[in-house]
Amino acid sequence: MIPYSRQDITDDDIAEVEKVLRSDFLTQGPTVPKFEQIVSSYCGASHGIAVNSATSALHIACLALDLGYDDWLWTSPNSFVASANCGLYCGAQIDFVDIDLKTYNICILELEKKLAIASKKNKIPKILVTVHFAGQSCDMKRIHELSQEYGFLIIEDASHALGGKYLEKFIGCCQYSDITVFSFHPVKLVTTAEGGLATTNSKKLYDKMNLYRTHGVTRDGVLMNSKNNQPWYYEQIALGLNYRMNDIQAALGISQMKRLNTFVKKRHAIQERYDILLNNLPITKPYQNKDCFSALHLYPIQIELEKVNKSREQIFNELREKGIGVNVHYIPIHTHPYYKQLGFQKGDFPNSEFYYSRAISIPLFYNLTIEQQDEVCEKLKRIIQ
Ligand SMILES: *Cc1c(COP(=O)(O)O)cnc(C)c1O
Repeated sequence: MIPYSRQDITDDDIAEVEKVLRSDFLTQGPTVPKFEQIVSSYCGASHGIAVNSATSALHIACLALDLGYDDWLWTSPNSFVASANCGLYCGAQIDFVDIDLKTYNICILELEKKLAIASKKNKIPKILVTVHFAGQSCDMKRIHELSQEYGFLIIEDASHALGGKYLEKFIGCCQYSDITVFSFHPVKLVTTAEGGLATTNSKKLYDKMNLYRTHGVTRDGVLMNSKNNQPWYYEQIALGLNYRMNDIQAALGISQMKRLNTFVKKRHAIQERYDILLNNLPITKPYQNKDCFSALHLYPIQIELEKVNKSREQIFNELREKGIGVNVHYIPIHTHPYYKQLGFQKGDFPNSEFYYSRAISIPLFYNLTIEQQDEVCEKLKRIIQ
């Protein structure tokens, strides 16, 4: 089976992991801070905080931004559930803004409309989580303007977007946001097996995320209540979690970061080939915005069902039967049973649902060979036509 995505692990990666395994520190050693430094400086942000998943990073980002019971968090439904769940962990209420059918990212017109209505009801969200779907940035400049006008905070869920750029700057520089979050799950751009990282330019947010990552415990004299300077002394000053990344994971991440630009370049070569090979088929190819340099985590196509006499499910199943490991991104978050029970219904966000009903992600990863890519295209052609 050709998977839709997979990691690329070299002997160098393995050697770096082995070094840590043979060293004094498996966790809380020097490797995690080094990884944080490498990723944050790559992105052009002042601080980076590594954790055990992007889900954890989203959670501590919300905690650091003081999201609580009376607050709202908004995101778009075309994402993995973690983009919304982070708000629920903090007891906040969730709402969604539908996507734009060209970019599959949050629709700016819908956001403007919804903010105008929310403003009249005094229900402006505290946080907006913008999801850079498939690795292509949302219109962050406009979203940032709206955040100034209405007064909300911004977390970029850049789980798909490490190595991507928006207006010539790397995603994660936080020029238009408070915090940006990345994932290092094996299907993403760079992997640490499980892992995540948050970048920010605010020392205050960095300190808070640092505290929430490790039990709410600190040894920093400035933060502690007591002036006790006994060498073993520490204080718990907040209710935090254990969301630490370990040094084994960070070593893999450091080694992988050396190849990030190569990974993204190869993904672009694959995308350009798909764009040509899939011409004249009843499908909609993913739109590439000129303001962005996508990290190309995914190559999501839409089947133009009105021109095809098979269902999306049939096409999906036939591809899988023929060894093409396709996937679908995403089941709109609000249609999951857990979210329905919170009051959402099918029909609430029609663009996300329409896109979902036609979407298939075809294989796109660093090691995909020309032959494999040809095979994907030939099988897709035969099945659709
Ligand atoms: C993968 C992903 C996450 C969750 O990442 P983990 O590291 O697995 O917790 C969150 N949001 C989006 C958009 C993702 O694709």
